[in-house]
Amino acid sequence: DIMDKVFELIQREQNRQNSTIELIASENFVSENVLKAAGSCLTNKYAEGYPGRRYYGGCEVVDELEEYCRQKWQQVFATDYHVNVQPLSGTHANMTAYAALLRPGDTILSLDLQMGGHISHGLPISMTGRLYNIEHYGLDSRGYIDMRSVEDMAKKTRPKLIIAGASAYSRIIDFERFAHIAHENGALLMADIAHIAGLVAAGEHPSPFGHADIITTTTHKTLRGIRSALIFCKQEYARKVDSALFPGMAGGPHMHTIAAKAVTAEEALTPEFRAYIRRVVENSRAMAAEFTRMGYEVVTGGTDNHMFLLDFTHTHPTITGQMVQQALDSRAITLNKNSVPGEKRSPMQTSGVRIGTAAMTTKGFGVDDFIAVAHRIDEIITSLTRE
Ligand code: PLP
Repeated sequence: DIMDKVFELIQREQNRQNSTIELIASENFVSENVLKAAGSCLTNKYAEGYPGRRYYGGCEVVDELEEYCRQKWQQVFATDYHVNVQPLSGTHANMTAYAALLRPGDTILSLDLQMGGHISHGLPISMTGRLYNIEHYGLDSRGYIDMRSVEDMAKKTRPKLIIAGASAYSRIIDFERFAHIAHENGALLMADIAHIAGLVAAGEHPSPFGHADIITTTTHKTLRGIRSALIFCKQEYARKVDSALFPGMAGGPHMHTIAAKAVTAEEALTPEFRAYIRRVVENSRAMAAEFTRMGYEVVTGGTDNHMFLLDFTHTHPTITGQMVQQALDSRAITLNKNSVPGEKRSPMQTSGVRIGTAAMTTKGFGVDDFIAVAHRIDEIITSLTRE
């Protein structure tokens, strides 16, 4: 029956998720309530515009819902920044942020994808790289963000916007220093906290609020919520951000996702969530330390957050990230290959992998479990070097 096909595939994916060790740093497992809200009748509703200013009738319930969602997110980050809860995903939020503050051709200063940045921070083949003039700051020889290169590049290239944020970076990001450099050089600061938002919410990473002019985040990584995003900004940019999103970059908001985002915020406000994030970081630190003990090179020598990178360049010169990802996949351990600082291989091969602890911590893994997984990964990598 054609109606069974999709549900059969969903069941197979559920089985896959139940039976693999999930180490992809950007993934997590959401609650039943998040799923319930996302699968609700709210998908039926058109609500172009904003609460109290809609282009459709019948919006009294969704108006209340969107307002509630906005308030809850301001509470999560203890902020009075304006928040727009309509972005559909991280990339959409970032493109909207640029559209609000920049004109095509303006200069953005960001971290290169190869160094740990994100596609939507101006990769040439992304629309963000085609619309704006992209410059990059870099990492120092240990793999830390080089704040001197941020400063030098800001002076040299006079960007309109500096982006502080990364997809593969294991250390604290100094938003205060970034803001100082941006404002000294006539630029605005955007913090993209997609990866670390859960840590910021739980007080386990310094907050960009009060420093950055605009802040974007996804809600599905360490925040453990629905696949979506948010944009926060200083009140003076509120109108620009709202109109850049609608009608600039979107039509009707996904009210079912906004409902699920409100549930995500409610969950992030609980003491259980803060305890969860503390365990995520503790597990990440313990696992990185175990790899170091076993002779692996962890980029920067360790981690302050939910993830870290292994660099095989010196310790396992014949091993690529692709080989490790593939070998682990066939043994039900999921992670992703990742470029390392000073990468010599292509993005399809790479010399490293990225490992995150947010998802398996949700499944109840503790320090001992992550250490056992580190040993299992070492066995598999060691067997690859013998082939
Ligand atoms: N920004 C950062 C730092 C990310 O890591 C990601 C996702 O990996 C995004 C933005 C984009 O999010 P999405 O995949 O929802 O477009």
